[in-house]
Amino acid sequence: MEANNLLQLAEEFGGPLYVYDAAKIQTQYYRLENAFSKVKNLRINYAVKALSNISILKLLKQMGSGLDTVSIQEVQLGIMAGFKPESIIYTPNGVSMEEIEEVAALGVQINIDNLSILEQFGAKHPNIPVCIRINPHVMAGGNSNISVGHIDSKFGISIHQMPHLLRIVENTGMNINGIHMHTGSDILDIEVFLYAAEILFTAALNFKNLEFLDFGSGFKVPYKKDDIQTNVEELGKKLSKRFNAFCQEYGKDLTLAFEPGKFLVSEAGYFLAKVNVVKQTTSTVFAGIDTGFNHLIRPMFYGSHHHIENISNPKGKDRFYSVVGYICETDTFASNRKIAEIKEGDVLCFRNSGAYCFSMASNYNSRVRPAEVLWYEGKGHLIRKRETFEDIIRNQVVMDFKDEPITV
Ligand SMILES: *Cc1c(COP(=O)(O)O)cnc(C)c1O
Repeated sequence: MEANNLLQLAEEFGGPLYVYDAAKIQTQYYRLENAFSKVKNLRINYAVKALSNISILKLLKQMGSGLDTVSIQEVQLGIMAGFKPESIIYTPNGVSMEEIEEVAALGVQINIDNLSILEQFGAKHPNIPVCIRINPHVMAGGNSNISVGHIDSKFGISIHQMPHLLRIVENTGMNINGIHMHTGSDILDIEVFLYAAEILFTAALNFKNLEFLDFGSGFKVPYKKDDIQTNVEELGKKLSKRFNAFCQEYGKDLTLAFEPGKFLVSEAGYFLAKVNVVKQTTSTVFAGIDTGFNHLIRPMFYGSHHHIENISNPKGKDRFYSVVGYICETDTFASNRKIAEIKEGDVLCFRNSGAYCFSMASNYNSRVRPAEVLWYEGKGHLIRKRETFEDIIRNQVVMDFKDEPITV
């Protein structure tokens, strides 16, 4: 997308605004598909939690994607978008047995990540096939908040618990049809990922009725110029070869599954916000914008870097700014950042705003959440209206109190 397209959309739909470029989502999807073209049965299950707008889900469905979900509401969104239950996998963590049963009743593939629920579920529903989430205890790198493979992680069934797991499967007579791992975000070293995959292959040999092996996600995308990213093509080459050899050994053409969120939608997203105030202080120049961490929490939450451009003055002289939000708390998007000279009223554009941005937005400070627009075939389509004050009060139940003060 070009800066003037974005400026036009900001004018047309107002700000702050999320814009997603459909073509970029498609490019990423086909890039991953091509990297694994040597695998006979490939399944890409888009991780809904990254960006859960129904129109985005429909776009992915059109490309042949399945879905990875973590809540029954995400499952319902997927079904609403037209996904068949069989093309949805449900990978919750710490949810109730009741919710898992409800999702299973819909015909969705269940993925269980702890022995307690596995035992209860297997005893009650031995005929429903289940995938198991293994924790191989391999750190593929990255931020400790988004790495989930380490020894202290709450995710997955430890690979060291395999004997206990096998006993549960035998005792209940349940059917394990898939094995899964998701080591968390930011695969920097493909060899480390392949090492974790070996643990999964070894574990897989314990089960006779597998249909798929799910390698989760964690594809790292670039946030800055020259940033490292997962070399998907190299991973595709190496893992495909190893996977095909494993299928030979196993004696069956299994499906290789992935469940990327960030990889598919991060770079497709642009967040647009207007500068309300340029404020000089003794130490810096603040650019105060008409949004805050209520709409884009990643910089405050994870220390994430989002590249910021002044699309109103792209050719302006570079200066240094602290870009801050309007929330009445520390609310910093960027400190000491080089940006083309900013005037009040300019529109700033945040890159990599497709994944975990709108989906983490809140109404904190009683602010409405932004609108979302999908840029599709050269046109902006509104896919979510900006909220109004009505949305803020919708579920509030207002009590009546006596006028006079209560005396004790
Ligand atoms: C969040 C999540 C993903 C997606 O991770 P990305 O880093 O966005 O690709 C995949 N699988 C599971 C189980 C997840 O919880």
